Amino acid sequence: LIGTLHDETSDAQAHKLALEIGGQFIKFLGRRVIVSGSSSHLAGHFEEEFSDVLELPSDAQLSSSDFMDKRQIKVGEIHVGLETVPLILGPCSIESEGQIRQVAEFVKHQDLNFIRGSAFKPRTTPYGFQGLGVEGMQLIRKVADDYGLKVVSETRDTRDVDSIIEYADVIQIGTKAMYDYALLDRAAKSMKPILLKRGFGTTIQEFLQIAEFVLLAGNSNLILCERGIRTFESKSRFTLDLAGAIYVLHHANLPLFVDPSHAMGHRWGVSQLGLGALAAGADGLLVEMHPDPESARTDAAQQIDFSMASELVRKSRLIAEIDGRKIV
Ligand code: PEP
Ligand code: MN
Repeated sequence: LIGTLHDETSDAQAHKLALEIGGQFIKFLGRRVIVSGSSSHLAGHFEEEFSDVLELPSDAQLSSSDFMDKRQIKVGEIHVGLETVPLILGPCSIESEGQIRQVAEFVKHQDLNFIRGSAFKPRTTPYGFQGLGVEGMQLIRKVADDYGLKVVSETRDTRDVDSIIEYADVIQIGTKAMYDYALLDRAAKSMKPILLKRGFGTTIQEFLQIAEFVLLAGNSNLILCERGIRTFESKSRFTLDLAGAIYVLHHANLPLFVDPSHAMGHRWGVSQLGLGALAAGADGLLVEMHPDPESARTDAAQQIDFSMASELVRKSRLIAEIDGRKIV
């Protein structure tokens, strides 16, 4: 249940009442109160104390499209969601200044605004490249500033989240970190925009419930990202759940991005998959791109090169235009 306190109702009164009628969870966000509990008729008890009482049947409350219309969020001066559709390009890992400069130059030339690249990699094996760490973050920040670009970069765990908060414009929380509550909390409290990826073994309901943790912490600068789930299929790296993405577009009020790179796992299919997601209404794309993909130190098989990326940008603009949207 989400309600707004009447002017004459104090937080303390509302809290007491919520407890009396079986509210197990009570949280105030300004004059707004969120209550959940065992009573099936919570709303009936609150009409005198609250206005705009909205009883939602699931734990996806603040993220629900029943609660509010689709949110547009801001990353600095750039709007995200509704008619503006970010196409975020960049390598899986930050490897060198030369690599990031080439990427930034390309992105700027395409009239785009965001660059991706990570310095803390949550690798599947301890034997591979783990990322450049803080040095990598300083490097991408410097290059992005030279070109006036926004940085999306991944936090692996609470040991590195402060570096991401300091140097990135959007904090990416990956598929494996989606359940790290301390990380979610720290990222949420920074009030920076967050790009939250769906766990590869997570249902849409569970994904939205995790999003609630961030929203409840008072940070509504949240972007959701579908990046593929684990199924029996092995020809693609993961299975992009486009149906799930469309469910979120209909039922949640948050921007929903798609990462076709980790879902496909092979560069020859990444742009096609991304374009399909855009046609389905995705609010943005997160795509791995490398100046020399074959030599990439992580995810070499799935990173697209500059010529593939130019085609992707060109076609993305055409698809976005069908719905009166604009690639940024
Ligand atoms: C990434 O974006 O490079 C990444 C590790 O993504 P995911 O968390 O979706 O695997
Ligand atoms: Mn990657």
